[in-house]
Amino acid sequence: MSNTIHVLPDHIANQIAAGEVIQRPASAVKELLENAVDAAATEIHLIVNDAGKALVQVIDNGKGMGAADARLCFERHATSKINQIEDLFRIRTMGFRGEALASIAAVAQVEIKTRTKDSDVGSQLEVANRRVESESPVAVPIGTSIAMKNLFFNVPARRNFLKSNAAEMRHILEEFTRVALAFPEIRFLLTANHQQLYHLEPGSLKQRVVQLLGNPYQSKLVAVQEQTDYLTIRGFVGKPETAKKTRGDQYFFVNNRFIKSAYLHHAVMSAYQELIAGDQFPSYVLFIDLDPRQVDVNVHPTKQEIKFEDEKIVYAFVQAAIRHALAQFSITPTLDFDLDAGIQSLSAIQQPFTEDKKQATAGSRLFSGFTQKNQAHLIDRSAADKPWAGLPIREVTPPEEQQTSLIGASLDLENTPLTQLLQTYIIFPIKDGYRLIHQQRAHERIRYEKLMQADAQKPMASQRSMFPATLELNAADASILEELLPPLRELGYQIEPFGKNTYVVHGTPADLESGEEQHTIDWLLEQYKQLAQELKLPQKESLIRALARQQAIRSGEYLTEREIRELVQELLHCQQGNVSPDGHPTYLEFRKEQLNKLFGY
Ligand code: ADP
Ligand code: MG
Repeated sequence: MSNTIHVLPDHIANQIAAGEVIQRPASAVKELLENAVDAAATEIHLIVNDAGKALVQVIDNGKGMGAADARLCFERHATSKINQIEDLFRIRTMGFRGEALASIAAVAQVEIKTRTKDSDVGSQLEVANRRVESESPVAVPIGTSIAMKNLFFNVPARRNFLKSNAAEMRHILEEFTRVALAFPEIRFLLTANHQQLYHLEPGSLKQRVVQLLGNPYQSKLVAVQEQTDYLTIRGFVGKPETAKKTRGDQYFFVNNRFIKSAYLHHAVMSAYQELIAGDQFPSYVLFIDLDPRQVDVNVHPTKQEIKFEDEKIVYAFVQAAIRHALAQFSITPTLDFDLDAGIQSLSAIQQPFTEDKKQATAGSRLFSGFTQKNQAHLIDRSAADKPWAGLPIREVTPPEEQQTSLIGASLDLENTPLTQLLQTYIIFPIKDGYRLIHQQRAHERIRYEKLMQADAQKPMASQRSMFPATLELNAADASILEELLPPLRELGYQIEPFGKNTYVVHGTPADLESGEEQHTIDWLLEQYKQLAQELKLPQKESLIRALARQQAIRSGEYLTEREIRELVQELLHCQQGNVSPDGHPTYLEFRKEQLNKLFGY
């Protein structure tokens, strides 16, 4: 009998471990930039070729390494940042695991040149498959240059998994942005394919935010700044009018480390409640600083997820600080909130819900009113999410079962009375009941099917602008738009590149108002990013869905009788009129017998 279990050879085990840290060129960018920051550099230059697939190089003017360290740094768990276990709980550096360089050297060819101030001559090493292939003295300035070449040259399977250059470049720009935001006092340069994309001069955080997120933010930022003994929050949030339909520029840093936290995001969102529409997201760049002992950054290999010793305090604090900031800039309509009250309420959050309190609550008239039999009661969450759940109303069946449901009935649309309800729904009578059409979703479906029919031979109608508008985008958005220009042309947008990150709009779909171009394209890109990146839909599908969403009538819009009729007519002719492009019902159907039951007979 042969053994089925065996120990993996070193090089495979190493590559698996490396894969956790280095998943794509952007992971190397993050690690190398962080090392340069940890080395106290004041100037950091990132160079990438072929979206980092061919080259990722970081040159810094930090403290450099001696010859021995230059060799040692590629070993696993080789770090100068931790000596004893206690150090793990007071980390002030970006790195500490001693894994990054070892991982990079396991999956790419690496060249390092480095010199410290104590030596006149530097060291140069070439490393591949984690073996030093050459070593020699070299004349270099103080600091370090690490070049990672041909990522995954020895793991073709992983190389094949890399995305298009535009996609990988987006990840790189994202990592670059995160580090550059966290260290505005450092000069950052970014060169891609021999073209300089960024030259960020040292300056204030506000200047850095504007440099990276774009000039439109200049006058649209509200400063956030609050301090307690326990923690500090500082940074900027966008005025409510800058809120976008998709999550875009949202950055949280804890002790200068970029983190992802749905929980803290929620705290920000709650501070904006009532100030922005429910489907919008504010922009923010926020830094929380607290004693490193209060956070555990060790929970994730790329250190993007962290645990707070006390999450609730941080949540309440973030929410209070942002409300305070918004109120100070008289953006909130009423000044009904001040930070002290917010902080005081922290103790309430902290206190356990004791037996005494339960008794007191249960005794209150309000509480008993909610719980008495046959009285109004709180709807449970599942029902609240789906208001019609529990009611004997038929939900629309999925498309494959009911492709032509709307057309089925022999309806004379001309004589059917159609009514708009709540400026959101259209009541559409059918033989033994009625349908409640959701105007926005229905129109999205209609636009989607129209746009789907366009191609290079049959482009959508486009109107040439007399005064072409100029678009200014940030580098990340420009790289997305660049990819989308050909399909956009088929869909009615005539856009041409015009120098660095700038575009000229020569033509738009016929019904777009001029003057709205920048806004429209920004919005479109936001939507596209969400669909393509978060839902991972193919390019054209994402673009068409984004456009359909953009062009659709909104809930809350008043429609004339003619518009109502047109909408229903067009919906009847859709191939899958019963669901919106993202799969939600476009209408609900109510039948007489179901209504009768609701009335109790
Ligand atoms: P970590 O950052 O977790 O310590 P790395 O693998 O990223 O682990 O780096 C290993 C060590 O190499 C670091 O601890 C540091 O001493 C040294 N090092 C790496 N990059 C640089 C740099 N740019 N300048 C000076 N020293 C560096
Ligand atoms: Mg490191």
